[in-house]
Amino acid sequence: MIHTTSEALFAKAKNYIPGGVNSPVRAFKSVGGNPIFIKKAKGAYIYDEDDNQYIELINSWGPMILGHAYAPVEEAVKAAIQHSFSFGAPTRKEVEMAELIIDMVPSIEKVRMVNSGTEATMAAIRVARGFTGRDKIIKFEGCYHGHGDSFLIAAGSGAVTMGVPDSPGVTKGVANDTLTAPFNNLAAVQQLVDANKNQIAALILEPVVGNMGTVLPQEGFLENLRELCTKEGIVLIFDEVMTGFRLAKGGAQERFNIMPDLTTLGKIIGGGMPVGAYGGRKEIMDCVSPQGPVYQAGTLSGNPIAMAAGYAMLTYLNEHPEVYTTLEKTGEKLVSGIREILKKLQLNYQINHIGSMYSLFFTDTPVVDFETAKTSDIPRFGKYFHAMLNRGVYLAPSQYEALFLSTALTDEHIQAILQANEESLREIMS
Ligand code: PMP
Repeated sequence: MIHTTSEALFAKAKNYIPGGVNSPVRAFKSVGGNPIFIKKAKGAYIYDEDDNQYIELINSWGPMILGHAYAPVEEAVKAAIQHSFSFGAPTRKEVEMAELIIDMVPSIEKVRMVNSGTEATMAAIRVARGFTGRDKIIKFEGCYHGHGDSFLIAAGSGAVTMGVPDSPGVTKGVANDTLTAPFNNLAAVQQLVDANKNQIAALILEPVVGNMGTVLPQEGFLENLRELCTKEGIVLIFDEVMTGFRLAKGGAQERFNIMPDLTTLGKIIGGGMPVGAYGGRKEIMDCVSPQGPVYQAGTLSGNPIAMAAGYAMLTYLNEHPEVYTTLEKTGEKLVSGIREILKKLQLNYQINHIGSMYSLFFTDTPVVDFETAKTSDIPRFGKYFHAMLNRGVYLAPSQYEALFLSTALTDEHIQAILQANEESLREIMS
């Protein structure tokens, strides 16, 4: 595969943009080589500047549940764009969007739109602090909640991929207010709670983790966290930036039937446009300005083009429950196929999978938390990544990410991905 145009663009980009990219994982640093620069995408395919075609398993890191440039979303954007691009004033679509989110996500009673997942999580913990009058938060090692200072402690995703789970530039004061526990370890959480009685405002987690690769909550873990938070007056925040509207219409909370106090949402609700949101129990959300004293604002929040895209996407998902049956079937087909290949090749690599999210970990150790995720053979993953790319399958360029399926994937695509897997795994073993 020729990548000369991408290489030239990357060489130029490095002069003008730190590391040549606007978000770290895109740089292919942990897998080696140069990033491919994307020109366009449609349905299940993405194309680079050298006109190579790839089957998409990143899908803009989640949002393209229906595949790229899905017609109803595209049409909604085209229609909205005729009426200008931003007003910084209330619009009808924002009201409709809020109503739809509240209808779809079981625990949300009131919701505020922002512009990214990062903004959503930063605001959610501020509101939790305002509501409880407490300072500290608990997060889990290897979970990623955007690049807000409070979350760049034992952070997953790009932060761990770049080797900086604890970022320089975060003050000691902020770091001291973020307590961390291993995922799936209730006893560790209980210990933190006991040692910081009446000081913990919020416990935030990805109910299914995507950012240390896919990691599922063990039986009873979410229930126990819910119970503990209720007992201790801690605001339970589900960060559903990746799982919302993907694992079920109402996200992981619907799938596991656990109601958090606050939920953060992101890229998916913009159908790919820059959007985020946070919402939850009325009494907590009513702390937000101008209803309450906790300040949070945004010129572009509720942007009309982003709302049009998001509303079209969510409406489609709401009205077509078969989307979720399709996603489940596609996930099952692909993952069971990969399991068979691993068996045939006598490899004991771990696959974590739920619905339309999965990760193949290059380790024999079951992956249940950050420590076990880190047992993966990263150089081997890098080889696998490039072997797949050369065969026209676009995977996330890091072991510490989930792969996301879309409804645009047909049986032919699945077969092609499986064949690429078998060839790639054979290649890297030899
Ligand atoms: N929370 C989670 C669970 C995420 O996966 C991400 C980004 N992948 C974020 C928050 C941050 O979202 P954004 O990149 O839109 O700021």
